[in-house]
Amino acid sequence: MSNRTDLPIRPSYDVVVVGARAAGASTAMLLARRGLSVLAVDRTAYGSDTLSTHSLAPAGVLQLSRWGVLDAIRKGGTPVASRVVFHYGDDLVEIDVPARGDVDGLYSPRRTLLDRTLVDAAVDAGADVRHGVSMVGLLHDAGRVAGVQLEVDGELRCIAARAVIGADGVRSRVAEHVGAQTTHQEAATSAVIYSHWEGLPDDVIVNHYGSGKVAGSIPTNDGAAVVWVGMHPDEFRASARGNVAEAQAARIAELPRFVAELEGARCIGGYRAWPGQPGFVRQGWGAGWALVGDAGYFKDPVSAHGITDALIGAELVADAVADSFAGADEAEAFGRFERERDAMAARMMPPVARIASLPDEMGVVMSSFVEMTKALHAEWNLIESNFGAVAAV
Ligand SMILES: Cc1cc2nc3c(=O)[nH]c(=O)nc-3n(C[C@H](O)[C@H](O)[C@H](O)COP(=O)(O)OP(=O)(O)OC[C@H]3O[C@@H](n4cnc5c(N)ncnc54)[C@H](O)[C@@H]3O)c2cc1C
Repeated sequence: MSNRTDLPIRPSYDVVVVGARAAGASTAMLLARRGLSVLAVDRTAYGSDTLSTHSLAPAGVLQLSRWGVLDAIRKGGTPVASRVVFHYGDDLVEIDVPARGDVDGLYSPRRTLLDRTLVDAAVDAGADVRHGVSMVGLLHDAGRVAGVQLEVDGELRCIAARAVIGADGVRSRVAEHVGAQTTHQEAATSAVIYSHWEGLPDDVIVNHYGSGKVAGSIPTNDGAAVVWVGMHPDEFRASARGNVAEAQAARIAELPRFVAELEGARCIGGYRAWPGQPGFVRQGWGAGWALVGDAGYFKDPVSAHGITDALIGAELVADAVADSFAGADEAEAFGRFERERDAMAARMMPPVARIASLPDEMGVVMSSFVEMTKALHAEWNLIESNFGAVAAV
């Protein structure tokens, strides 16, 4: 692979992308396909896992299909779910996922597969992707961000760029260095514990809601499903810090229908825990920089929608960079990116925040899902009507 750390890094690029997962690798791929010279760096290892369950919304699957990488996800052994089941207390709602063209259902690939596939596509398109490399500072010129300072094998390197894209996640160092303002802040959040199980069906995503409780299962690669539970952060602090396995089992035990579904299935480990963090939206761009993915817009994981937002945001920001480099007014090009992103956030965040507060009333959860469904339709329409054909390599 050409994304090894020991390959050379050039002294300057059109664009440097910090972070090379859902948002960063996609952005690097799209910009390289447009003929720009791109460097993407990530401080973690190529193909490594990250803290996340794996659900993609239909629009996320559509993006992978349009970009020509969905087949690699299929070949990686990702099952396709054709049904989503919601248990709201004693009420049951089953939804058949309609097949639309190549999007034949819902895919939930492990991040080890998804992020690696996107990195490979970026490298195939001509981007330099370097793992084990950290961005430690930004370069400035005449009031603009003009490159990055990297730590490569213990040495500092300065790399010039016409634009720096922060795709570096919730605790974005790029956002910190440029002083990006927080333009919206949520209050509610939920904590999550998940683990991997075998012996569950591979064609259905299941969600269980109870009074102040949530849990579910999502089929993924290698015949496994991710089983997750949500709880209030204070409950998490009180019960889960010592033993997340016990805390997960205790939450499942409170949802008898979920207990019945898990009968005969077996936990194969891989426990991960997330203590919760309220959602936010940050200023999306400034002179010579922009933020994409969680770096600029983060929602509670109960939405299972951050990866899809990252894949849509990547195309919005890549369009803005390419248009401005081609001579369009920078404020107009990046303003459009920020407006579209903020409109997606405005549709998605209110219902997600209500669900994340784990309300006692099932009616609140159900109506919030109806609202989320409208947001899912809107983002699908955005892709179909606003995004052009994507050049393959
Ligand atoms: C518990 C949990 C469950 C979730 N489940 C789902 C789900 O089912 N579906 C879904 O769509 N979303 C889910 N999400 C959200 C999803 O994980 C994120 O929205 C998604 O990972 C965002 O992608 P990203 O590329 O923006 O950021 P990230 O995936 O966070 O990637 C950022 C990368 O930048 C790197 N980086 C950071 N700083 C630097 C630096 N200074 N130099 C170099 N590299 C740097 C990091 O190491 C990281 O690899 C979940 C999140 C959590 C916490």
